[in-house]
Amino acid sequence: MSTMNNRAAWLQGPSVQCETTPEGALLPWGLVLLGAPGVGKGTQAELLHKRLRACHLSTGDVFRAAGSNPDCNQSPAIKEALRHMQRGELVPDSIVWDMVRERSSCLHCRGGFILDGFPRTLAQAEALKELMDREGIRLTTVVNYALPFGDIVARLGGRRTCENCKAVYNVTERPPKIEGKCDQCEGKLFLREDDRPESIKVRLEAYNRSTAPLIDFYRDLGLLIEVSAKGSPDDIFENTFTQLEARRVREVAQKVLVAQEDRR
Ligand code: ADP
Repeated sequence: MSTMNNRAAWLQGPSVQCETTPEGALLPWGLVLLGAPGVGKGTQAELLHKRLRACHLSTGDVFRAAGSNPDCNQSPAIKEALRHMQRGELVPDSIVWDMVRERSSCLHCRGGFILDGFPRTLAQAEALKELMDREGIRLTTVVNYALPFGDIVARLGGRRTCENCKAVYNVTERPPKIEGKCDQCEGKLFLREDDRPESIKVRLEAYNRSTAPLIDFYRDLGLLIEVSAKGSPDDIFENTFTQLEARRVREVAQKVLVAQEDRR
């Protein structure tokens, strides 16, 4: 999107550099966003990026960027990933993990990071934890966005994405000013292949089976906050931000206490 750095290293791989690097944050955020497809993780990631400066790292965006390359430039792994994606299925863990591991320098970004769409299975979450422990990267918080099933189906079916800047609209909840055209760059809006009704069902089943267990995984690690994904994007964002700040204040207060104890 227009407000972001171009995320080139994430979208195209580590041989490419981002156009701008974010200012280093004193306490950079390391976030994972969880929630079923359609709860609005992508929109929240954008809003969080604007406020926190942390880079928006979406695995779905990486696959879509690779898919928009000419067919002859697509690796066999990417072709396989796209076949799964179009059917609404999860891409196999090994392909996803190779792609993320190759881009792991993005997790060291000075501005912090917001992982959106990854991890999506327990195996991915465990692999990520191992890599972060090994490389000394801190996951600060995991946000789980919750929304009733009926609302999710309605959101996905009405979602339209800009083919140019990837901004997301909804035909009823968040329509563009001109039908079919992006407000920001006038790009054409399209219905994602995996937002078609037959794929939506498969995606929601995959979420319940493979991704929902991550809620307990991160709760047990003491990293989880839960936010309702009902309401306007701005309201959901304010809710998220308030909870993130409260967590940070508690964390800093705890550190101060420990430091005082140590000095005694
Ligand atoms: P949404 O959350 O709206 O479904 P994403 O843009 O995050 O969409 O992902 C689109 C598709 O890309 C998924 O349905 C899946 O096929 C594939 N994908 C993205 N990330 C992963 C992942 N971590 N593991 C497996 N498949 C993934």
